[in-house]
Amino acid sequence: MNYLTKNAPPTREDRLGACCAFGGSACELLDKSKSNCLGTNGRAFAQSTGCQMMLSLAIAGTIPESVIVFHGPVGCGSCLLSSPGISKQNQLARGNADTLGQVWFSTNLSEQEVVNGGETKLEATILEVDRRFRPQAIFVAGTCVPAVIGDDIDSVASNLKDQVMAKILPMHCAGFKTKIIATAYDVVYHAILRYLMTEEEEYTKPLFENNITLLENRLKIFEYEERRKRTINLLNVASMSRVDETELVRLLNALDLEVNIMPCFSPPDSFIKAKDAAVSVSICATHDDYFVEHLKELYGVPYILNTIPIGIDNTRKWLLDIADFFNIRETALLLIKGEERDLKAALAPIRKNLEKKTAFVCAGEIRAGSTAILLENDLGMEIVGVRAYHYDKFGDVLFDTLPRKESMPINVASSQPFEQVNMLKRIKPDVYLGHAGGNVWAAKCGIPVLPIFGPSNSYLGYKGTFELATRLERLLQNPTYYKTLAQTASQPYHESWYEQDAFTYIRED
Ligand code: SF4
Repeated sequence: MNYLTKNAPPTREDRLGACCAFGGSACELLDKSKSNCLGTNGRAFAQSTGCQMMLSLAIAGTIPESVIVFHGPVGCGSCLLSSPGISKQNQLARGNADTLGQVWFSTNLSEQEVVNGGETKLEATILEVDRRFRPQAIFVAGTCVPAVIGDDIDSVASNLKDQVMAKILPMHCAGFKTKIIATAYDVVYHAILRYLMTEEEEYTKPLFENNITLLENRLKIFEYEERRKRTINLLNVASMSRVDETELVRLLNALDLEVNIMPCFSPPDSFIKAKDAAVSVSICATHDDYFVEHLKELYGVPYILNTIPIGIDNTRKWLLDIADFFNIRETALLLIKGEERDLKAALAPIRKNLEKKTAFVCAGEIRAGSTAILLENDLGMEIVGVRAYHYDKFGDVLFDTLPRKESMPINVASSQPFEQVNMLKRIKPDVYLGHAGGNVWAAKCGIPVLPIFGPSNSYLGYKGTFELATRLERLLQNPTYYKTLAQTASQPYHESWYEQDAFTYIRED
């Protein structure tokens, strides 16, 4: 796979045949996926869905010392108005105290530019941003309007290359081009690989120096090589808290491994280090497969991408995959044995209160699958429904280990709250775990809600499993708030919709 000669990456529909609409059982989903019969699919009726431009900010918006320029009408990117506070909190948690903060500009395209083109405005905006902020990088988010009128943002970037200090990174993220918004991750990585990790940028390895002895020189280079051979690119995601990063670093350090955390919250100049690591380790294939494949092909850095360290089983698999790469399985097994023993003892009293409670999980395919497995296997709960934003081959590893109950529906849908509310009204789970944007729909049904990730909470590794269990136990002790909310809040759907099948409008290819 090498798409870097092109200006933009292919969509996930084209590259992976990713599915955005499905309703049925886990067996049906897996059979279709494994036999390559799961189509991209669609809907005869759909509510609004996400835009890949917004998700591209999930990485680009975290990069310190960078500025984002939205090339489009002023409404595109207005979602960032709500995030400077949380962004600052996330940067501070990682010790990035002196960063620019979240700075973004819009080229504010109007009818005039739709007719005459918007490249001049983009050029002027980039020059002004560079003059005012002197950032290391400027991400240019190309939205729907320039994609339709044919503005060439790559040429603008290349023409300005010698006039600005910053690296300019064009991102082709027009929302209308894909229904699989995870395409956004490929868009950002594409820009990073093409414009930040370029050949002329060489990571400074220790070189022979004149002011120290030959022996000291050799020792320095030897130490560097030894460290490099044990260094992991740990690929984080923006929804990962600092506490989660610390937990994974704790486990990897316990195996005597060093960690280079990226891409989120990493300054632009740190990306070049990734070429030099022994291996890249992802916690989410949905997020990283495009990047790690290119890193392997271009710079020979192998990767591990199988699972996410959520819950006991998947944390064990994640650690053992890494240990096998470094040939240290026995050491890892010892670590895992001790961690699992302590965690199971701590979970025992909580498990008693959660056993047999029913749960509905909604998230990206990897997070949804792994959290469902955690709830069933570690806490004895019963999963009564799973919703994934999209589905592709990377989900098979996790969904294969889900309980294969015909009665447990799997829904593939990005947004589409009408399908979700219909399902929840029938299933009536004891608890719902989902993303901030979708949680309100469950809460209005009277179902207690636990966010499936949070900027300051712990979810990953052994610590995450324990903390998730404690939060669930506390939530289920008193669901009064949600019961009261359901009595006063209304849903926007006719009663007749709840009599129909939730998947009525899904159309298979
Ligand atoms: S769908 Fe297009 S116009 Fe709408 S926010 Fe996304 S990029 Fe902007």
